[in-house]
Amino acid sequence: MRLDLLSRPAWQASLARFALLLALAAAIGVATGHIELALVVALFGYALFSLFNLYRLRVWLESRQRVAPPDLIGAWGDVAEFIHFRLRAARTRQRRLVRLLRAFREAADALPDAVIVLDAQRRIVWLNRAAGRLLRLKLARDRGHLVDDFLPHPQMRAWLADQPEREPLFDVPSPEDEGVRLALRMMPYGGDQRLLIVRDISVLARLEQVRRDFVANVSHELRTPLTVLHGYLDMIEPDEAPGFAPMLDDLRTQSRRMAQIVEDLLTLSRLEAPQAPPDELVSMAPMVAALAREAEGLSRGRHVVELGEIAPLDLVGAPQYLHSAFSNLVSNAVRYTPPGGRITIAWQQLPNGGARLAVSDTGYGIPAEHIPRITERFYRVSTSRSRALGGTGLGLSIVKHVLALHGARLEIESEVGRGSTFACVFGPERAHAAAVEPGLVTATVTS
Ligand code: ADP
Repeated sequence: MRLDLLSRPAWQASLARFALLLALAAAIGVATGHIELALVVALFGYALFSLFNLYRLRVWLESRQRVAPPDLIGAWGDVAEFIHFRLRAARTRQRRLVRLLRAFREAADALPDAVIVLDAQRRIVWLNRAAGRLLRLKLARDRGHLVDDFLPHPQMRAWLADQPEREPLFDVPSPEDEGVRLALRMMPYGGDQRLLIVRDISVLARLEQVRRDFVANVSHELRTPLTVLHGYLDMIEPDEAPGFAPMLDDLRTQSRRMAQIVEDLLTLSRLEAPQAPPDELVSMAPMVAALAREAEGLSRGRHVVELGEIAPLDLVGAPQYLHSAFSNLVSNAVRYTPPGGRITIAWQQLPNGGARLAVSDTGYGIPAEHIPRITERFYRVSTSRSRALGGTGLGLSIVKHVLALHGARLEIESEVGRGSTFACVFGPERAHAAAVEPGLVTATVTS
């Protein structure tokens, strides 16, 4: 680099001028007999000249950068040109970045969804135009405020309190207008910042409501004709028309199946209602005993039904819904276990203070690839087997909804040919020490 500089004409000229100055001073010194004095005067003059150039450079740098560099000679001019070139390049880069930033902001402003940038403490750093519309936020006024203060709905509060990055929150009313339904999603980004995206899903929520109402109304309308049909079928004695006996039997089975589907659909509609049923303290010892009796009734002596560990815990929830979910698991265990199999019902305490109701069987089991989809409506591993056993394909869907209402989850373990365990896992807030010791029901119930 240094050698490069020496090869530049400006630096060569400066060096030549300096050498000439020294040679001139030396010549004058020799002529006058004061060589040292002549050299000192020449060097002093050169230093003054350099200082003056430095001063002009400094004045230029302090002035607005768009002004052309001062007209300096030699190496000084070269340095000024170089600084000027670097400053111009930096300005161009800066302009490009500003343009890019503006384009990003305009794109974010054009989004129909509210985008709010938050710091690690969830204080507002930036927001787009839609955030102003959907949440009535104003950047100038609300910058630095906790976003929690603008999300007052209890569901939003609970969501914010419980790691909101984990999963989005769907279908909550807007703080401004109850009729506007919102979906909220929080994402970590850029170190410890957060991005909150709020979407207006009112249209989607209305469509979902239409779907729910449709299913509920159709199921409700079908109930009466099916009851009538069922009634007439029951009135016909097979002995009166022996030729029709097999057909009559089939008709009865099918109408019972239809009635069960309608009942299950109505249960699902009730479970999807926006207001959750009130919580009660459900005594689990009698509940488990009732489930065991139901299993025995369904099995009619074909299986061994037994109780496993019964923890002295009661459950906070909606008793009818919980019973409906548990008895669906029990009925599946009986239906999908060949005669001679064993069905075990247990109510266990978990190390975290929660509890789980587990129904295990030694039945057909479920291939692993079906397990993720098994709680979908009408999803069956084997449609023919399910139908033959009186299934509707809605049982586990009901279980999933009931558990969601209770903030609980369904755990499924299964091995083909060995059996399955379906466990409803409840959090510690739902499990309470039982009022009475469950001594009576710990005894094994066998058929
Ligand atoms: P269904 O009315 O058909 O039983 P469910 O929603 O209750 O509907 O169950 C869905 C499917 O899951 C069933 O069709 C069956 O294939 C499978 N299944 C559920 N429980 C068990 C079980 N205990 N053992 C084996 N398969 C099961």
